[in-house]
Amino acid sequence: MERPRIATVWLEGCAGCHMSFLDNDEALLEILPQIELIDSPITDFKHFDFRDADVGIIEGAIGNDEQLEIARRLRQRCNILVAWGDCAVFGGINTLRNNIATRDLLSYCYVDSPSTVNGAVPDSTELPKLLEKVLPVNQLVKVDVYVPGCPPSAEAIAYSLTEILKGRIPVLPGSMIHFD
Ligand code: SF4
Repeated sequence: MERPRIATVWLEGCAGCHMSFLDNDEALLEILPQIELIDSPITDFKHFDFRDADVGIIEGAIGNDEQLEIARRLRQRCNILVAWGDCAVFGGINTLRNNIATRDLLSYCYVDSPSTVNGAVPDSTELPKLLEKVLPVNQLVKVDVYVPGCPPSAEAIAYSLTEILKGRIPVLPGSMIHFD
């Protein structure tokens, strides 16, 4: 594969997976010349009209309708979709809200919490609507490659990208998905 075009996005996550990619430090000097990073938070990409990509990468779970739309658009535009990190792979810490009804959750956070006075649940058409549950990416769009970890190690991220550069769908060795 020649200089694959790569698009990345973070959804319901903390940016830590992208930071772990950047933690490859000097190894980035080997990886970056081999790829074309077209649309990514790293390139200050702020809209979601993705261009065609060989590889799409999602960090974060899907917890609202905007994130769902972004995941679907990226899936449509890329050949291989990679889930980076436990939030994208399993839902991660975001799923702590899944046993609470969305209406109750919003009421508690914005109206009923002990520190709130005269609160109101935000209500604007500009705000994304929460889904009833936060879901891992593969429950809503097809995922081809899983890179678990919170965050995945820089080594695991580099390994998965290198395998893709060699034309292989990466399967991470046990040492990269086992955490002591
Ligand atoms: S997997 Fe961990 S590091 Fe990655 S977005 Fe989720 S919380 Fe952040």
